[in-house]
Amino acid sequence: MLRDSFGRVATDLRVSLTDKCNLRCTYCMPPEGLDWLPNAQLLTADEIVRLVTIGVERLGITEVRYTGGEPLIRRELVDIVSRTTALTPRPQVSLTTNGIGLARLAEPLAAAGLDRVNVSLDTLDRDTFKRLAHRDRHADVIAGLAAADAAGLRPVKVNAVLMRGLNDHEAVPLLRWCLDRGYELRFIEQMPLDAQHGWTREGMVTADEILDRLSSGFDLAADDLEERGSAPAERFLVDGGPGRVGVIGSVTRPFCGSCDRVRLTADGQVRNCLFAREESDLKTRMREGASDEELAERWIAAVARKRAGHGIDDPSFLQPARPMSAIGG
Ligand code: SAM
Repeated sequence: MLRDSFGRVATDLRVSLTDKCNLRCTYCMPPEGLDWLPNAQLLTADEIVRLVTIGVERLGITEVRYTGGEPLIRRELVDIVSRTTALTPRPQVSLTTNGIGLARLAEPLAAAGLDRVNVSLDTLDRDTFKRLAHRDRHADVIAGLAAADAAGLRPVKVNAVLMRGLNDHEAVPLLRWCLDRGYELRFIEQMPLDAQHGWTREGMVTADEILDRLSSGFDLAADDLEERGSAPAERFLVDGGPGRVGVIGSVTRPFCGSCDRVRLTADGQVRNCLFAREESDLKTRMREGASDEELAERWIAAVARKRAGHGIDDPSFLQPARPMSAIGG
């Protein structure tokens, strides 16, 4: 098992398939993009499946989420998903995506056994989307969401980040739009993980503010029907249900104490926390011929070193060297 020194057990593996993305969301990266990892440094599909297999078969991973960068731009995605869902014990397999290309890929992904998707959508307005993501792809995201729903990748979850002065007036309309379509919306507090290091605490729209705004349009009641467990989102029943909304207060309402996640970057580094400043290199040893057993041991040691919390509130907090797109969100 992947157990840290505080007794938390990692069962949820987030795997970044690429650091590249076809959007430039301002809370993530600059409009000109970033220096992407050279192809030779990216794990191959076989290497990804080998590490995921070690995680599932030897280390107690029960959930695998593919992310990035943008996972839909990884050509072998459908193959990687079908090889993951063929593992025993069968893990839950999901995808976090910006939805561009999902209109074409939702069916093949569902056929490969994908269980669910989280699609990022921060605005209902095409111009705001262009300003926020620096690309005119709003219609592709909307089409991707509809295709995911039609392919049965339910519940379709939508992730939204509110930015002050840009889309923070859209909390209520976004929720109404998602409820009308049966999508489950989750707002995520903006985290200090952008490549430009532009995050400020004052600029962040907090979970309290998000809930205030939502309360102007809806009646929210804490959803105690379901155990929150290790889920990052606090969930609320909207207008008595059955619709729900989630708020992920990563900064102001941290949930590190119940965190069950571990990450694998696109270049084969284990990260025991989104905000970790250290990584553990599995790729190099794998390419040098390490056995599955050795790789599992390195992975166990990496998780054992996990710190108690992300420490954003600590005066000594330093943003990780890698931005969100390179870590895998
Ligand atoms: N490209 C995919 C997508 O858009 O969902 C997957 C990767 S993206 C890094 C995963 C999630 O992280 C998205 O929902 C995105 O909005 C969110 N995200 C990126 N940077 C963030 C930040 N600085 N704070 C909070 N959420 C962030």
